[in-house]
Amino acid sequence: MIDLAYILAARHSGSTLLAMLLATHRQVCTMGEMATAYLDDAERYRCSCGAWIRQCRFWRSVQEAMAGRAVIFDIAAAGTDFSSIGGRYVRRLCLPLHRGPLAERCRDAALGLSGAWRRTLPAVQRRNALLAEVLCELTGSQVVVDSSKTAVRLKYLLRNPMLNVKVIHLVRDGRGAALATMGPDRCADAADPVRRQGGVGGVRAAEWRSMAQAARQWRRSNEEALHLLATLRPSRWIDLRYEALCADPEGQRRRLFRFLALDPAEACPVDQFRQAAGHVIGNGMRLDTAAIIAADHRWRSVLTSEQLAAFDAVAGRLNVRLGYGEASAPPGGVG
Ligand SMILES: [Zn+2]
Repeated sequence: MIDLAYILAARHSGSTLLAMLLATHRQVCTMGEMATAYLDDAERYRCSCGAWIRQCRFWRSVQEAMAGRAVIFDIAAAGTDFSSIGGRYVRRLCLPLHRGPLAERCRDAALGLSGAWRRTLPAVQRRNALLAEVLCELTGSQVVVDSSKTAVRLKYLLRNPMLNVKVIHLVRDGRGAALATMGPDRCADAADPVRRQGGVGGVRAAEWRSMAQAARQWRRSNEEALHLLATLRPSRWIDLRYEALCADPEGQRRRLFRFLALDPAEACPVDQFRQAAGHVIGNGMRLDTAAIIAADHRWRSVLTSEQLAAFDAVAGRLNVRLGYGEASAPPGGVG
């Protein structure tokens, strides 16, 4: 069995930072999001080591080690994402929605109606486990961190008999996460504009969202996460706040190492988290250079009172329930 630490979070909650920080431990490795989406322009996508992803020597070694296990593997089309099985029908069913146990059983049944899902799921499970095994083998690690974030992926990884999964539930003030979702190129990508979009620069206008859309996405992801956590034994998961992580990375890192049964003494200093992480794909912050960890609180100065009210109408109540003070405007919405 491979030990896998899964970061469960809404988008733009600091999961890439957390994965890189955990990889400062000698026994921990990460590639960021193991459920990497298909990379449209792989020739112009950079690994966090700085190399173009297809030129990166580490990813070539992964490809060779997977081939040794009779698996054809290409990091630009990794085939590890459950929601990519079988096209639009499966993709829609895997979207984060507010679900309870009954709705989850309905989702399982609906997925089971897809022949492609039934035929392909065992192979995707095996592929994920073998990739985790190869990452540990090549880096000499005991634990692999997957920052893929979604609850639906976690649900299937928990059923994988080759994996021993522990969960870190990472929560960030929804107003900060929503601002990043509204404009990921400005608020959730590499600081240097020429390194955005995987390392080729440019504007991501197609991904811009309204505050209502961003708040809904944050709320649904957290609701789905909370439903799943309610089904797990308490020893299997731990809570973490993005704001606490940034305020005290050393202390929070130690707490997480203990949770993962790792000796904190085997970690390198926090400010070496970029070098330690190695070869990460996902959020653009992996291509930054700053060694200092600082919380991004831009939402406090950037969001207008109308935008804060729009957030509260959709997600204010859940944000308060998660401990983020009073709603920024009179609470009206469900949550
Ligand atoms: Zn690399």
